[in-house]
Amino acid sequence: MTQDNWRPETLALHAGWRADPSTGAVAPPIYQTTSYQFESTEHASNLFALKELGNIYTRIGNPTTAILESRMAAIEGGVGALAVASGQSASAFSLQNLARAGDNVVSSTDLYGGTWNLFANTLKDQGIEVRFADPADPQSFARLTDARTRAYYAETLPNPKLRVFPIAEVAAIGRPLGIPLIMDNTAAPLICRPLDHGAAIVVYSATKYIGGHGTSIGGLIIDGGNFDWEAHAERQPMLNTPDPSYHGAVWSQAVKPMGPIAYLIRARVILLRDLGAAMSPFNAFQFLQGLETLSLRMPRHCENTLKVADWLKGRKEVTRVIHPSTLQGQDKVWADKYLKGGQGGLLGFELAGGREAGRRFIDALKLFYHVANIGDARSLAIHPASTTHSQLGPEEQLATGVTDGYVRLSVGLEHIDDILADLDQALAAAG
Ligand code: PLP
Repeated sequence: MTQDNWRPETLALHAGWRADPSTGAVAPPIYQTTSYQFESTEHASNLFALKELGNIYTRIGNPTTAILESRMAAIEGGVGALAVASGQSASAFSLQNLARAGDNVVSSTDLYGGTWNLFANTLKDQGIEVRFADPADPQSFARLTDARTRAYYAETLPNPKLRVFPIAEVAAIGRPLGIPLIMDNTAAPLICRPLDHGAAIVVYSATKYIGGHGTSIGGLIIDGGNFDWEAHAERQPMLNTPDPSYHGAVWSQAVKPMGPIAYLIRARVILLRDLGAAMSPFNAFQFLQGLETLSLRMPRHCENTLKVADWLKGRKEVTRVIHPSTLQGQDKVWADKYLKGGQGGLLGFELAGGREAGRRFIDALKLFYHVANIGDARSLAIHPASTTHSQLGPEEQLATGVTDGYVRLSVGLEHIDDILADLDQALAAAG
């Protein structure tokens, strides 16, 4: 068996690195360097002209970060990856790499709040319009598409609604039109591989499950290498017309001999070069540490979360449990189709006592941390109505699924009895 057919569990430990050729070190070293000595002026010019790929400056690439990039590309079944400073910069770059002022993108409405702000406000200020489509109706993506639509965007398992996105259905609408589907797979590593279902690009907040330790912020963009940018030259001008900021390079042609990496190379040598949101080598090392145990952590997150969901269904204080296992109809079909080996580590529930009960519940927690993060090895909780979603009116509550009594849990790896005991005493305190 070779690396070509290793399974994701094996790739998470081995892809992209074996042992240091000069020292024999098995663990990937942290190359804490800004710069790299060129072998000659010819070597330097080849690197700058992209005649060969290699290290120039850590803002654009670093050997420790490169191991993380190869490992994540291998796990997702892509041809390459780009590590960046945060999940936010991964989402922003993934679109800015295709869309400029005057262009538009169609995105699912079901998004992480930070991504929503980026799309609805910051990208809009930059002249990129994000149009929001209902993920329950894949054809809504087609209806919002016009000649300036450059990409579709969605999250595999978006919270708080936890409705699984119809990846193949929407990817199939975009492909003949030359529109790639970009999937944020932050909440579903290993349990879903969006590229297998027709997505072209995958983005991650590595901050969450990839790390798992809650020590480092980072993001990743993975290129499926499965999208024919050249065949859709009119639709994708940024990859098919001369780029004045890189000696007139046409990206779909410039790096052809190196494989189908036009999208990825542009993101690295233009966006990372100019905007500078590089991941530090130390953080790349931290994410490599996290990846080593991801295949053990994800099943445990999924198992504990399902047990919590089932337990909450029997509680009188709880009016509704939001978890993929409670989906019905078409939503259930998509959850069964796209999530394999578990339904993720997130769940929501609604307290009968509304906003005040939500506050009392959170304040009574002893084991769960009260934080805005998800995907940590520890159990985490938040009451959006008093924090991230405190300004919502009734209509926005309906649109986001965040009501006054809604509580979000990111269930950790602790013993299930300890998790349930903490929830039990907090529910009693919430009343
Ligand atoms: N995407 C999702 C689904 C997230 O949950 C988050 C953060 O919570 C992000 C993107 C942004 O990631 P980061 O916090 O690493 O910038």
